[in-house]
Amino acid sequence: MAEESAGAQDDCLFCKIVAGQVPATVVRETDTTLAFRDINPQAPTHVLVIPKAHHKDAAALAAADPALAADVLRETRAVAEDEKLDSYRIVFNTGSDAGQTVFHTHAHVLGGRGLQWPPG
Ligand code: C5P
Repeated sequence: MAEESAGAQDDCLFCKIVAGQVPATVVRETDTTLAFRDINPQAPTHVLVIPKAHHKDAAALAAADPALAADVLRETRAVAEDEKLDSYRIVFNTGSDAGQTVFHTHAHVLGGRGLQWPPG
């Protein structure tokens, strides 16, 4: 199966979280997305929002399924509302040089403290 295809990938950690094979603290779920707390939080709120379908990164998702990309973005807003965040940051690390380590699209939703700019 091609790297960017939307089927579950056997070797993908986040596909395993979607399948319930790896535990996660889920905070929101829709038909197309899952949101769970990051296992290594970098801020008081650090939630990952992922499409349930496998796309390797945000660029691949945007190209293959813009409606699903919109679902992910909508859920980042819902997470921020649930967490009562007035200010927060949404990050899609895209590519290893940008810090991406899990190659299944995910939006980091970070908030609850002051955040510096530019990022490292
Ligand atoms: O953007 P990047 O690919 O580096 O982000 C992956 C994120 O997935 C990390 O913040 C890491 O802490 C998180 N993670 C997780 N649960 C796992 C494995 C990784 O929340 N089981």
